[in-house]
Amino acid sequence: MKEYRLAVLPGDGVGPEVMMEGLRVLHAVEELHGGLRFRRQAFDWNCDHYRKHGRMMPEDGLSVLRDFDAIQLGAIGAPDVPDPVSIWELILPIRRGFDQYINYRPIKLLRGIESPLRDRGPEELDFVVIRENTEGEYSDSGGRLHRGTSHELAVQNSVFTRHGTERVIRYAFEWARTTGKTHVTAATKSNGINHTMPFWDEIFREVAQEHPGIETWKVHMDALAACFVTRPQVFEVVVASNLFGDILTDLGAAIVGGLGLAPSGNLNPDGRYPSMFEPIHGSAPDIAGKGIANPIAQIWSVSLMLEHLGHREEAGLILEAVEEVLVEGTVRTPDLGGSASTREMGEAIRRQILKRG
Ligand code: ATP
Ligand code: MG
Repeated sequence: MKEYRLAVLPGDGVGPEVMMEGLRVLHAVEELHGGLRFRRQAFDWNCDHYRKHGRMMPEDGLSVLRDFDAIQLGAIGAPDVPDPVSIWELILPIRRGFDQYINYRPIKLLRGIESPLRDRGPEELDFVVIRENTEGEYSDSGGRLHRGTSHELAVQNSVFTRHGTERVIRYAFEWARTTGKTHVTAATKSNGINHTMPFWDEIFREVAQEHPGIETWKVHMDALAACFVTRPQVFEVVVASNLFGDILTDLGAAIVGGLGLAPSGNLNPDGRYPSMFEPIHGSAPDIAGKGIANPIAQIWSVSLMLEHLGHREEAGLILEAVEEVLVEGTVRTPDLGGSASTREMGEAIRRQILKRG
């Protein structure tokens, strides 16, 4: 019997709604497998917690989470709580505190989903974006000067360390090698950003030399964004800095059917700390409480967690069940053009899993 401790942070808005379906799917996998158990513990660390206690999580939040094997997060954020609070006081401390330096995002067109690029031909899209998750452009270094004067200015520094840059690029090549891919693309902008990006390029070249069997491609971010639209089939692994990866993954989600389908893993590859899995969408206040959010991004995040913990077969089973339901086509949430509820969508996937087992 393999037993894991799973921390569950349902969060805000649609977060708890989609989390419920993710956990029901996980339960179906446990039922089938027999030898796999997730001991779940839920934490109400969200914007409500902030309104009541003035903070997103208790002071010892990180040390509580440290003992878990993995974290499932729904979505965080509310219209009345400023992003700097909800993001900087919960998600970023977890990502940084647990050294989750890889943000792993599959860009995969599921069977049964049509890409908005369909007229351009991509019937199959299947690659990953590996985004740096702890430094780069999203640093707190910088400030504002001469407020309220005509000389007012703002400065934001990017921080690229050799350690941080090397490890994300190295992870991308390692991931390519172990999954049989032969091509790694790096997002750069060294024609316009003249300190950090040449440094990034240099390290990319160095690490590439350690992997002679893998072809590389270095593309400027602007051209790369265009290429995601015009020729997304060419990619296998794309490695990008924090900001560029953020932009590319939203674009990536769009070309494979939208936010409701897009999962992510915040990985601590060394396994020293728990990794965290979450849909890339936000709390979606416009549809929260209506029970119509698409739970697939969360369900896929459960699949990513299983894969990360070494249970490839179970991870694959979930994704196949999702695809079966999408191909069958009668149960779809409104974002996919249907009228099914969050529960109906989750339930169809759960049943499909049990049927396959
Ligand atoms: P955040 O700042 O938290 O990232 P956001 O403003 O970027 O939030 P989201 O909350 O991700 O936005 O929502 C963007 C749009 O996508 C909204 O119209 C929302 O309803 C829709 N959306 C997000 N998640 C889902 C989902 N799971 N199912 C269906 N629609 C969704
Ligand atoms: Mg957003």
